[in-house]
Amino acid sequence: MRNPGGKSKRKQVSDWMKMNNRELLAEIEELRIRLEEAEEALSAIRSGEVDALVVSSGEGEKIFTLEGADQPYRVLVETMSEGAATLSADSTVLYCNSRLADLLGTSLDEILGKPLLSRVAAANAPVLAALLERSLDESCRLGESFRTELALLRETGDSVPVLFSCCSLDLGETRGISVIVTDLSEQKRNEEIVAAGTLASSILEQAGEAIIVCDETGRVIRASRQARELFGASPILRPFDELGPLQEFHTDLPFSISAPLSGQSFQGLEVVFRRHDRPFHLLLNARPLLIRRKILGCVVTLIDITDRQRGKEALEEAKAAAEEANRAKSEFLANMSHEIRTPMTVFMAAIDHLLYLDDNPERRHLLGMADQSARRLRGLIDDILDVSRIEARRVELEDEPFELRACVREMLQMFDIPSREKDLRLETEIAPDVPHIVLGDPKRLGQVLINLVGNAVKFTPEGEVCVSVQPRGELLEFAVSDTGIGIPEEKLELIFQNFRQVDSSFTRRFGGTGLGLAISKGLVELMGGNISVKSREGEGSVFTFDIPLKRADKKSLEPLESSGEDFGKELSSVRILLAEDEPMIRELVTTMLARRGWHPETVGTGREALEKWEEDDFDIILMDLQMPLMNGIEATLAIRSRESKRGKRTCIIGLTAHAHREIREECLASGMDEVLTKPLQMDDLFTAIDGCDQVRGPSS
Ligand code: ADP
Repeated sequence: MRNPGGKSKRKQVSDWMKMNNRELLAEIEELRIRLEEAEEALSAIRSGEVDALVVSSGEGEKIFTLEGADQPYRVLVETMSEGAATLSADSTVLYCNSRLADLLGTSLDEILGKPLLSRVAAANAPVLAALLERSLDESCRLGESFRTELALLRETGDSVPVLFSCCSLDLGETRGISVIVTDLSEQKRNEEIVAAGTLASSILEQAGEAIIVCDETGRVIRASRQARELFGASPILRPFDELGPLQEFHTDLPFSISAPLSGQSFQGLEVVFRRHDRPFHLLLNARPLLIRRKILGCVVTLIDITDRQRGKEALEEAKAAAEEANRAKSEFLANMSHEIRTPMTVFMAAIDHLLYLDDNPERRHLLGMADQSARRLRGLIDDILDVSRIEARRVELEDEPFELRACVREMLQMFDIPSREKDLRLETEIAPDVPHIVLGDPKRLGQVLINLVGNAVKFTPEGEVCVSVQPRGELLEFAVSDTGIGIPEEKLELIFQNFRQVDSSFTRRFGGTGLGLAISKGLVELMGGNISVKSREGEGSVFTFDIPLKRADKKSLEPLESSGEDFGKELSSVRILLAEDEPMIRELVTTMLARRGWHPETVGTGREALEKWEEDDFDIILMDLQMPLMNGIEATLAIRSRESKRGKRTCIIGLTAHAHREIREECLASGMDEVLTKPLQMDDLFTAIDGCDQVRGPSS
């Protein structure tokens, strides 16, 4: 191959510019002939027909002889699957087989005569340069081979991993390099596949979940260790649906692998699987295995949540048991209070009646003592019941309009006598901007105030007790202050707890149960407020609580009850039926009613009450709730359904030992007009009777 004259391209072009047409044509013809020669030479080299190769350059010519005996090797080199090349000392490719050209994705013409270093990835060039340098080193014997893995750069820009082996070659005057390039793409791919397979296997072995891979027919093709443990044997090659059944926890339907195989995905589906009667609670995730949008199988993971589920169930059971215990406690207290209230109704009413009848001072004194003790006992029962209700969060608060000043005044009136006895001043200070009518529960507010003022009076030997009310933003602040014995600082925290008193010896000095403040705190908190105390021993105490009581207008107040003069019916002509199974209570209520000149008919069951009502024309029925054969509610329902035909309505007043709001509501819903709680207070009984339309005439 020649490059005559070795001219530079620029010089050649300027020479051509100076030529005329003929000279130019001759020049082109010569170039064409030389090109043909070069092409012939190239194909001769490739086919192994050439014995010697002359490389011309500006520095002269180099001749590489190819001995005739090398011919068979050249054929061998051309047919082998590795790339092969011969390089000059400066890495110029002198010879290269077509496999190497294929590997590089180019033609032999593009490689021959050019440095091979430009054909490797930039990062590998220094490695290759060092390798070539080493093999050319004089100290290295001819034929000694060196190898390295590197990436060849293909014409398209991507790279091919290869094993590059080289050894020095005697090219006569100089040394050259013989190169063999082995394509590692396939091997690398296989290695990657093997590595991916190994990774997948170790993931399956170590995964904490049961992982199952199914093919498109639903057969298990891979399974994790956990899956084998869960199903008790290797599920490989078994149809997934035969491993189960996996019952869906909430529907009891069996889960089928056909669902994910038809494209459905599942996340956190709770299923139950049984093995040897042992239930496993599992969380199932399933996804179709999509490769190029084609479903080739699916992956199912199962997480064992049996312990978690058991814990949840145990917790629910414990909660249900606690609720049941609490319900049983409330029921017990309600029953107990019923049982205690019934005899108490009797002896309180009996005492009351005896006091009414008897003028003898000595007996009246004794009866007074009995009356006081009965009231204390009833207070205690009410307190215990209140504490249990507050603890069980079963206190229902009213939200009704009421006159705040009247509520405070009435409450204070109760302490008129005890404070006068001790010569205590009882003051109220209600700020002018405190609303007159507010929305709330007057009974519960009164209960808190009674507790606090009761304590203040009890623990104050002299001086004053003052109740003040003032607005504090959205809230109303109530303060009960006294000039009493005070409370030691270290006891201030304790006194709001059940049964806690400053000193047990106080029990003897002052009496009390230690429940009043616990009830007050519970009620204030239920009303949405807070209670606190400040006190100094020997100087007095201030109990403060604030609750949200919204302003209401006057119109919202119910019309005042009419006075006795408005009664539409002559009191003595009121006809009353008393339905009560307890003979003593029957007798007592009869005695109470007799004070007003009323003589009720009495029956002992709901059924008798109904029969009596059908025979006669009663204005009022006093109906006990718990009666044999037919209870008070059933009797009321029956009366209400029948009286529409009769055209006259009877006033029905329920009597119950259960003070629950639900019971009261149930009574009213059955058609009762009013409900009274035992022990019956005479005043309450008369007020209820006076409130009946049948007695006072219908309100306009
Ligand atoms: P009780 O008064 O029935 O004992 P309380 O819960 O109402 O129960 O009060 C708890 C204790 O707090 C009382 O026993 C008393 O020691 C103390 N206490 C409450 N109010 C006052 C007060 N105004 N002055 C002094 N001590 C008080």
